[in-house]
Amino acid sequence: MPKFTPVKPSRFSDTITAQLKNAILIRDYKPDEKLPSEKELTETFQASRVVVREAIRSLELGGFVSIRQGPYGGAYVRRLGYDRLTEHFIDLFMAGELSVQELVQARLFLETEVVCLAAQNITDEWAEKLRKALAEEQIPTKNQADWVRRNMATDFIFMEMCGNRFYAAMLEPLMKLTQEIVLVVKPRRTVIHDPREHQAIVDAIINGNCELAAQAMANHIRHMAERLINLEGDYRKRKGLV
Ligand SMILES: [Zn+2]
Repeated sequence: MPKFTPVKPSRFSDTITAQLKNAILIRDYKPDEKLPSEKELTETFQASRVVVREAIRSLELGGFVSIRQGPYGGAYVRRLGYDRLTEHFIDLFMAGELSVQELVQARLFLETEVVCLAAQNITDEWAEKLRKALAEEQIPTKNQADWVRRNMATDFIFMEMCGNRFYAAMLEPLMKLTQEIVLVVKPRRTVIHDPREHQAIVDAIINGNCELAAQAMANHIRHMAERLINLEGDYRKRKGLV
């Protein structure tokens, strides 16, 4: 007899997951739309509640749906973003398979290109957004998370402006990983970020000067790199990873 593999009951839920996932990807169910109820799915797939629940759970883990409670509760389709990539990056970093050294090297490579493209894509609306984000960086706050978020907002605008979603998909997890390290270690504010550095980048972008923007970004990342690399040990200690 050929070497067959025994079928496990959990395989049923995998095939249900695959069908539902496909329906989401081809937009039979659009973001924010609710999937059919557990009862309906049980009937449609002629499977038990346990199996259907397992299928929904794995869609949730995959980031395709989120479960809402209450009278309008159920599995709602999520708009696909880069969250899963971010989670993978953070896991790899925690496992010691990625380092801050590599993180800043990758950011240097990507972000110099991103701001160059941003300079080429500058419009009055983008210029306005950049000025506003820069001004918001200056507003004093005692809330570290809020401060970090506002500082990164400018970087996220550069990313949106570049118009290449692959760059965005690679860069967003790198930014979020940086954010994670800063939020866990909580260094003094000026230690990580000098506000004048963003100003120089924004000026160059608004002037549509690709080279100057890339240079200013390289400067910014090199300064930040030294400070950030020093935080890695602290981060690992705080997370109980060493
Ligand atoms: Zn920055």
